[in-house]
Amino acid sequence: MTRVLVLGGTNEGRLLAAEMVSLSIEVVSSLAGRVSSPRLPEGETRIGGFGGVDGLIEYLESKRISAIVDATHPFAQRMTANATAASRKTGIPLLILNRPAWQPTPEDHWISVPHLTEAAARIAEKPASANILLTTGRQETAAFAALPQRFWLRAVEPPTGPLPQHCEIILDRGPFTLSGERKLLEQNDIATIVTKNSGGPMTAAKLTAARERGLEVVMVERPPLPAGVPVVQNVAAATAWIRKI
Ligand code: NAP
Repeated sequence: MTRVLVLGGTNEGRLLAAEMVSLSIEVVSSLAGRVSSPRLPEGETRIGGFGGVDGLIEYLESKRISAIVDATHPFAQRMTANATAASRKTGIPLLILNRPAWQPTPEDHWISVPHLTEAAARIAEKPASANILLTTGRQETAAFAALPQRFWLRAVEPPTGPLPQHCEIILDRGPFTLSGERKLLEQNDIATIVTKNSGGPMTAAKLTAARERGLEVVMVERPPLPAGVPVVQNVAAATAWIRKI
């Protein structure tokens, strides 16, 4: 019998788990445990790291998992690397469910950068009086900590790392509305947004609001996917893959 491990922490992970439950396919969703009150998927759930590749292999074997879907966030690079290594060692098939990246329109003013250090270097070029909205995650503030600009840091949980001297924390969780994003940018006179290219509709409204205001967006592009692992972009395609196992 098929027993699927869904590595989650995303809306797609939740939707896939719900689909598995509705099709009576056995599913366990795994969450990292970073968020104190996560939105739990339907079906069985486990929370917390596995203990690296070896811990993951032990889990897969003890729970008799027959397929893995890595539906983690496109920037959760370590979990994806661990799942790839565990799949190679055990022969348990792995699929990556990776939602499409956002694409700029001709009206957008994006500066695409390969990583957060480069994003911080671009912000360092701005006047010290510039107001910056930072939505790259609470664990990844260190690159911006020495900068003099005024930051609005939006995250689901309070940040743990070093923060810029001028930094207001906005604790909030998507989905975000266009009217809410317009208000946030206008009220705080935001000049530039720094974000990761997460893709998906839940957090895309800020890009529309930025476009309307002609604002610059420093877009951190995604890390590369592992070679040789099949990738799909939506829940329907992941379900079709699982049904063929
Ligand atoms: P990461 O750097 O790729 O993973 C670090 C470690 O966290 C992994 O080695 C693993 O620990 C554990 N881990 C990560 N995802 C897990 C999962 N789904 N189930 C069990 N353990 C998991 O991950 P991250 O970027 O910190 O992201 C953590 C979680 O938040 C992911 O589930 C991801 O989908 C979600 N998320 C991430 C972002 C982001 O921007 N990175 C944004 C939104 C949501 P062990 O080695 O001990 O197994």
